[in-house]
Amino acid sequence: MTIDEAKEKLAKLQAKICAYSHALSTLYYDGSTVAPRKTVEGRARTTAILSEEIYQLSTGEDTVKLLEFLDENKEQLSKTEKRIVFLMLKDIRELQKIPMEEYTDYQMLAAKTYDLWHTAKEESNFSLIEENYEKMFAANKRFAKYVAPEKKPYDYMLDKFEEGLTMEKCDKFFATLREHIVPLIKKVQSKPQLDNSILHGNFSDADQEKLAYILMKTIGLDLDHVGLGTTEHPFTTSLGSHLDERITTNYKKDDFSCSLFSVVHEGGHALYDTGSDDELAYTVLDCGVSMGIHESQSRFYENILARSEAFCEYLFPILAEIFPEQMKGHNAHELYLAINRSEPSLIRTEADELTYALHVLIRYEIEKKIFADELKVHDIPAEWNRLYKEYLGVDVPDDKHGVLQDMHWSDGNIGYFPSYALGSAYGAQYLRKMKETVDVDGCLRKGDFAPINAWLRERIWKYGKSLTPAEVFENAVHEEFDPTVFTSYLEEKYTKLYNL
Ligand code: ZN
Repeated sequence: MTIDEAKEKLAKLQAKICAYSHALSTLYYDGSTVAPRKTVEGRARTTAILSEEIYQLSTGEDTVKLLEFLDENKEQLSKTEKRIVFLMLKDIRELQKIPMEEYTDYQMLAAKTYDLWHTAKEESNFSLIEENYEKMFAANKRFAKYVAPEKKPYDYMLDKFEEGLTMEKCDKFFATLREHIVPLIKKVQSKPQLDNSILHGNFSDADQEKLAYILMKTIGLDLDHVGLGTTEHPFTTSLGSHLDERITTNYKKDDFSCSLFSVVHEGGHALYDTGSDDELAYTVLDCGVSMGIHESQSRFYENILARSEAFCEYLFPILAEIFPEQMKGHNAHELYLAINRSEPSLIRTEADELTYALHVLIRYEIEKKIFADELKVHDIPAEWNRLYKEYLGVDVPDDKHGVLQDMHWSDGNIGYFPSYALGSAYGAQYLRKMKETVDVDGCLRKGDFAPINAWLRERIWKYGKSLTPAEVFENAVHEEFDPTVFTSYLEEKYTKLYNL
């Protein structure tokens, strides 16, 4: 085989993997949005068959031979090709270190645990899922030892979601957040609460959908490539390539701001995905580089841009047109105060910009303790409730509003949570850097996102997965990650909001 033949084979292989993934994600999107209720069986069968095909294509003997050949001749590969070979081989070598039987058992365990989580949450009963969680954590600890015996097991878990992330880095990061955010929350709580009655009323789905499409267009999504659906839990997914993106939202009858911010959040994910270079399409690099960087985009649009006073000035007249009764007698400043009201609460996904990171910190501390054998799975609920009281001052009434609210542990996404907080913090540094060359507030006041999007596309989006997360971040801001930029941003914003 010549190197050119091998390169061609690699391109064809990726095209095939992308085609199967395209079919899979389309099925998933259909199942989550418009599919009739009793159609799950056929989809599950097709999903299983397609997943197996993808697994074979990605890890089969021919693929391994091809990738090893390319790896041996890597001096003849472009930077992009090298990255593709590196990432595909990394996955294969990790899988090869896990005994096949243990791996397939784990897949089944995860599927069952995810299923069981729904029941446990519904019945608000952690003991229903305790045994499964024990097995899930134990399996991941074993896998960490097989794959990266040189690393601390939890470091391996963190690296899975954010290449290069370690407990040492996380500890420093969260310590900085705690030091600044906990006292800030206390100060906010000592002040009169902001009025958010402007957000509450009676809003039809049709009106909210109208607003959703206006927002999608305003933030710069190309509606010829990005579609909108409705689901209970909003998400973003790519179908086939970055040129076919779907976001979803959920319309709450009595509060239009839920859908508003979910559209902007998911829209941020979709902008990132659709912004990658067209030459990456149909390769394994045609996606976001990590969850941390992905969340840094979505949370940037949702919080830093859409919850700014400048954007409220643009948004208010639009709201006044769609919801004339509701907005009567109100103004943009009242809207700004209402959407930034901060209150320690129980549910992470509903948390405000200020308290959000503490929800993540609690999960991080629990996962870390489990991996260090300092906490038993049985004792997670008690520890969870203790930490919520300590950091957020709230009493957790039951498991449903406590330890069972997130699905992450049930399907094996252990080590995922820190990405959310990192993403928030990255965004503050983007803003500071962006303001050196872009009149961000001026753009937001006009609803003109083009200069903001161009800045992010050039520094972040276009690279897809062809750089590491750290390279993407450094490329964007030309400085090291510094979480105090984020805490200063919060201090400045909430000092003004609450007259601290
Ligand atoms: Zn997100």
